[in-house]
Amino acid sequence: MVYFVGAGPGATDLITVRGQELLKRADVIIYAGSLVNKEHLALAKEDCRIYNSASMTLEEVIDVMKDAEQQEKMTVRLHTGDPSIYGAIREQMDLLNDAGVSYEVVPGVSSFCGAAAALKAEYTLPDVSQTVIITRMAGRTPVPEKEEMSLLASHQATMAIFLSTGLLDSLKERLLAGGYQEDTPAAIVYKATWPEEKVFYGTVGTLPRLAEENKITKTALILVGEFLGDDYARSKLYDPSFTHEFREASE
Ligand code: SAH
Repeated sequence: MVYFVGAGPGATDLITVRGQELLKRADVIIYAGSLVNKEHLALAKEDCRIYNSASMTLEEVIDVMKDAEQQEKMTVRLHTGDPSIYGAIREQMDLLNDAGVSYEVVPGVSSFCGAAAALKAEYTLPDVSQTVIITRMAGRTPVPEKEEMSLLASHQATMAIFLSTGLLDSLKERLLAGGYQEDTPAAIVYKATWPEEKVFYGTVGTLPRLAEENKITKTALILVGEFLGDDYARSKLYDPSFTHEFREASE
């Protein structure tokens, strides 16, 4: 059996209980070395075989899983954050399907949730935005044309932008082209939930300078939108004059 486990954004106690139990039982762990906190590996059994996937190809990863399966061993494939977000798990699952190896997925706390906690922010504020757009700038992995950054920006929704810290000049330009203003609030969250976490507040216009001045080049999320501002409407759910399924209005 193979388990794809979300390790969470960094802090070792932000993995799920289920993920942690699986790590303790694993005979083989393949972890995404570039971002997963290595302290998670301290839970591994003494005779657990541990591989860092950073230096492996997809085929090599699958071979390790297939070998383990043949020896009736249990494998944990440890991904950063939640495996469904830029985790490259679909291609692994498809090859495991071909090989007849069963697997399960254990969710994790994605870094965009870790970033919201670091910012003490709510992404979905009434009257501001009820939508979070998770996206990235095109890098070596292209982004479909219909999802071009300025088209997404034109919604003026909350945006959580992954994998783009090295591309802030063009990010800024695309956000402005889409209708955000120079002074639209933005933030950079570096290594959310890690001990070295850093939060920088700025605006769409200052994003490139903010990163440059603070020497942030990777492992950061860019958050954009008026959710970082001061104005919003109160929720209906907790409004005293609002009746719903579980509560009668008191006013
Ligand atoms: N599956 C992961 C994302 C992997 S893609 C998740 O759910 O979070 C890698 C990108 O995620 C990085 O380039 C960075 O943009 C972001 N990232 C991962 N961990 C982060 C953290 N602790 N703080 C800020 N950004 C992070």
